[in-house]
Amino acid sequence: MDPDQTKVRTRRQEVRIPGLGWLPHEIASQIKLGKVRVDGNWVKPGPKALPSWQQAYELPTEHFLIKSTLPLPKTLELAGDLEALWALWAELFEGLHPLDAFLTDLKAPLKVWILAFTADFASCESSNIPPKAAIGDPPSHGVAHTDTHQAFFSVDPTEYDPSKSTSGVRDTLFHEATHLIHSLFQSAPGASGPGYWCVEGSACLVEGLRDYTSVDLNTAVSTAKHPSVQTPTFPKGLQNLSASLLDLNQIEFGAGDQSLNYCQAMAFAHFFMYAQGGWYRRAFLESLYLIDHDKSLNAFDHAFPGVDKKILVEQVRTHGKKIQ
Ligand SMILES: [Zn+2]
Repeated sequence: MDPDQTKVRTRRQEVRIPGLGWLPHEIASQIKLGKVRVDGNWVKPGPKALPSWQQAYELPTEHFLIKSTLPLPKTLELAGDLEALWALWAELFEGLHPLDAFLTDLKAPLKVWILAFTADFASCESSNIPPKAAIGDPPSHGVAHTDTHQAFFSVDPTEYDPSKSTSGVRDTLFHEATHLIHSLFQSAPGASGPGYWCVEGSACLVEGLRDYTSVDLNTAVSTAKHPSVQTPTFPKGLQNLSASLLDLNQIEFGAGDQSLNYCQAMAFAHFFMYAQGGWYRRAFLESLYLIDHDKSLNAFDHAFPGVDKKILVEQVRTHGKKIQ
């Protein structure tokens, strides 16, 4: 099978732009000229960041509609990371019906706002999504609103550098954009049911991609120095690892000791992706679909029927010590 469907794409007069993917030729030709879209018109952006989200320009990619106030070269770097992350999840879900169908039948691009200034990020996010969502204090670098399939990022243009690990910006992008991509599985808005750890575990797992210029989950993440593993909380999380984490719903997960819960979710996710020759990988990926598809069922119990949770905890604890 042709992974890029080049013949079909070409017949449809689409053009592939490295980093951005396949786009209609009339859009691709403008982007190749260094132009972006403002109010439906294609213009060359200036070299500086724009002061307000209301002046943001649009940069369409194959799977995302990016609205940015960053200088264009920085937006293109972020766009490349978003598309690489998409390709990574598409590869993981390939052949796992119906998970793969959600990604191949994308109805509308996922909206991603990238704002250069923190105050503007807060203003944009609250203007688009009433009621105001908490962005933390100090504010986080990004947030995904899965009900509306939109993500917002605050990116200091000097800080984002795909050639090296950076402080919190690039890992936040991979984390929140993973929530955004998985939001396509949502059948109804609202908080997720029991088994929510897989949502955060999978997002924490891909944070390790921040250390790589080339994004590839199979070769990169398993050996990456995960931000979660590097925190002092991780050993404590392993020590206190509990099977009860597997049954928490989204509200309970957020109400507990969050730093411990996130570390533990990452440890479980890493185990299911890589341990025992990848034996559990498929069930883990299916749980990501189940948790959003039916919010009333326990996604873990459905994806992992018959697994002894106490034995599992011991296995994950041993695995976690290896990746520390
Ligand atoms: Zn998250």
